[in-house]
Amino acid sequence: MTQYFLSTEQANQQYVQFRVQFTNVSENATIVLPRWRPGRYELGNFAKNIRNFRVFDSQGKPCVVQKTDTSTWQVANEKGADLRVEYGYYAVDLNAGSTYLSKEQLYVNPVNCFIYLPERINEPCEVNLSIQDNWNIATSLKREGKQLTAATFHELADAPFICSGKLQYNQYEVNGTVFHLWFNGEITVDWKRIIHDFKSFTVKQVEKFIEFPVPHYHFLIHILPYKAYHGVEHQHSTVITLGPTYDVFGEAYSELLGVSSHELYHTWNVKAIRPIEMYPYDYQRENFSRLGYLCEGVTTYMGDLMLYKSGVFQLKDYFREMQAQLQKHFDNFGRFNHSVADSSWDTWLDGYVPGAPGRKVSIYTEGCLLAFVTDVMIRQHSNNKFGLDEAMKRLYFNFALEGKGVSEQDYRTFICELAGDEMNAIFDDYFYGTRPFEAILTEAFEVIGIEMIHQPSRRYSHGRLGFKTIPDGAHHVVKAIYPGSPADLAGMMMDDTIIAVNNHSLYGELDKWLAYFDDEEKHVTILRAGKLLELTLPEVQRNFYLEYTLKQTENPNGAQKKAFEHWSK
Ligand SMILES: [Zn+2]
Repeated sequence: MTQYFLSTEQANQQYVQFRVQFTNVSENATIVLPRWRPGRYELGNFAKNIRNFRVFDSQGKPCVVQKTDTSTWQVANEKGADLRVEYGYYAVDLNAGSTYLSKEQLYVNPVNCFIYLPERINEPCEVNLSIQDNWNIATSLKREGKQLTAATFHELADAPFICSGKLQYNQYEVNGTVFHLWFNGEITVDWKRIIHDFKSFTVKQVEKFIEFPVPHYHFLIHILPYKAYHGVEHQHSTVITLGPTYDVFGEAYSELLGVSSHELYHTWNVKAIRPIEMYPYDYQRENFSRLGYLCEGVTTYMGDLMLYKSGVFQLKDYFREMQAQLQKHFDNFGRFNHSVADSSWDTWLDGYVPGAPGRKVSIYTEGCLLAFVTDVMIRQHSNNKFGLDEAMKRLYFNFALEGKGVSEQDYRTFICELAGDEMNAIFDDYFYGTRPFEAILTEAFEVIGIEMIHQPSRRYSHGRLGFKTIPDGAHHVVKAIYPGSPADLAGMMMDDTIIAVNNHSLYGELDKWLAYFDDEEKHVTILRAGKLLELTLPEVQRNFYLEYTLKQTENPNGAQKKAFEHWSK
């Protein structure tokens, strides 16, 4: 058994002090720290936070240690030696997948900061916490006082915990599974509302899969005083960060529902139904997979759809989320250059930043839209007998419960079994190709009596001139340019700072000034790389960025009504 001792003295310096006890190790032991965390498919290189890494033998003598790559330490020791390892971990990031220490809390994602011996990855682990007596501990791990235990390092790596004096707790039960709700931070929790809504979407998800994969589950929710929105899935829990505090049960409540339903769906899809390339996870290198459209695409689609199916979302709420995905898709010219399957592979390169303009798409957005098309095609082919949820249930029983990972071909085979052979062309052209989605989306919406409407963006800069900005104090900074638009023809560049329109300082208002000079030639004053310059925007009589909206067909036919009803259930 590996024993870990964590102490939190001098929390203001934000170093968590680790002492790790390995017994009876092999000669010249190799010690490693994970290089990435499941749920975020890019290297995190957490070893950059490790300070003062030292190894001692059973007599307390320092051992010779050599690093052999960024996250591997080779120890000079005899066979059968007991080793004590000490190091500090700089815990300064507070997001849904990080480790954070302050005077108020110790929040740990073990995959960030717990070293392990690869030869012992399947052996039990024990965590001993030296924390304040008045702190509570929120975790899915087995717990006795300040001691946590895990059956394997994989279980430990997948089990975040929060130690804090500010934890609020409640629970609900569905089909014998207890769902634990933890809130950390300043928040007045509306328990009645949250338990009603969480229970509703949980019941619906469990109904679709028949059973929940694990006997207990924890929602660990950090409420932050500033804008935050992030969730990370685990087999027995999820960590969610959300803020600001005052909006959580107001404007941001639909985000809390959205991220919570999404993460719960991951308990089946990715934690149980998992790409074969990640079965098991290899924490020391990239685990390349093209199945991001399954892991994140289907989860994004189902997370929101389950909220609608369970009555937690109204149709207008569901449309709002779907419209946001459509908007992201159509605004991103990367859709002409890189497929969603290839973008999944490349998350390891730059999957979590905008990156080079027009280079790639998103496993979340394009994956979600294709999941919707798949869902409708299954319904059509089965005459409203089955949907995508049936395919997911079959994957759960045939792969997850059989202890097998899912390959690209497995997913395609299961989908084609339910949606017919014409689905093969959809995979080739849209999942693995860059054919425009517009026609298949319009058609799929039409099947269930929904119209996808587009109109020129009402914002002058978007619709008429073809560029998008974000405000920066009194100015605006260019963040997207539509190819062939007046902005493009004028020579506008990404990250240009717009200071004035027709010599009038913006004072924060870009579109109002542009609209004011509608009838005149428009020129903008730009600050670029420390120099001021003028760009004249040519007149072009057409529209550029479009706005996408969904609405129900006014007079649906019988088939549409039936299909919609079945899709909604
Ligand atoms: Zn996700």
